[in-house]
Amino acid sequence: MRIVFLGPPGAGKGTQAARLAEHFGVPHIATGDMLREAAGADTPLGRRVAEIMARGELVPDDLTNQLARGRIAQRDAEKGFVLDGYPRSAEQARALDRALEEIGAALDVVINFEVTEDEIVARLSGRRVCPVCKTVYHLVAHPPRVAERCDRDGTGLIQRDDDREATVRRRLEVYAARTRPLVDLYRGRGLLKEVDAMGSKEEVLGRLLTAVEA
Ligand code: ADP
Ligand code: AMP
Repeated sequence: MRIVFLGPPGAGKGTQAARLAEHFGVPHIATGDMLREAAGADTPLGRRVAEIMARGELVPDDLTNQLARGRIAQRDAEKGFVLDGYPRSAEQARALDRALEEIGAALDVVINFEVTEDEIVARLSGRRVCPVCKTVYHLVAHPPRVAERCDRDGTGLIQRDDDREATVRRRLEVYAARTRPLVDLYRGRGLLKEVDAMGSKEEVLGRLLTAVEA
């Protein structure tokens, strides 16, 4: 199963990618997580990536493409993957085509997460993450068992820098300008399935499984 998740920030892609990847026994590949890791390095590159992410802009295609291409070619991704947050631009979509061609693989399905703007804002403003294991919570919808602590490892949860209001606005603009056009690209190839991403995590997972297995 080679699946791409498209959709605005905060739509629930990461939450569902983790569950779908587990269901199919394939890796969850999130360029956002890989870039946050890179941004944590105290090097010129790390600082540059951190600064771009904090502004809500896209990290340059060459760097993101290199990260994604290397990850997809790893052995555990031979049976498939759930790609979350990549591709995000037309150039990245072309690079993904080339990377898949190199390993003799092709995408099975591209899912577009549909959510209202009010729901995006509510989801992003309440999002909290574990900086160690990356588990995603929501203050209201998916609170941890103990306030502000990760259920898995007890680490104090944090709010992502780019989940603050001004950056969220910019990320939504960047999504509309650079990433949303990919919906039409993949629809044109007959790969796109639209999934209603409103409702509970369980409801959305059920719709995803129906869409992917249809
Ligand atoms: P994305 O990866 O698309 O940016 P996330 O998976 O990180 O989105 O989800 C954004 C926020 O919304 C998180 O706080 C998450 O806990 C919450 N969330 C995810 N799915 C749902 C849902 N079905 N209902 C309510 N909140 C959700
Ligand atoms: P995410 O965790 O998917 O919300 O991504 C967080 C941030 O990482 C984005 O706002 C971008 O700055 C950067 N990022 C993640 N994936 C990509 C990508 N495919 N191309 C460029 N930048 C990316």
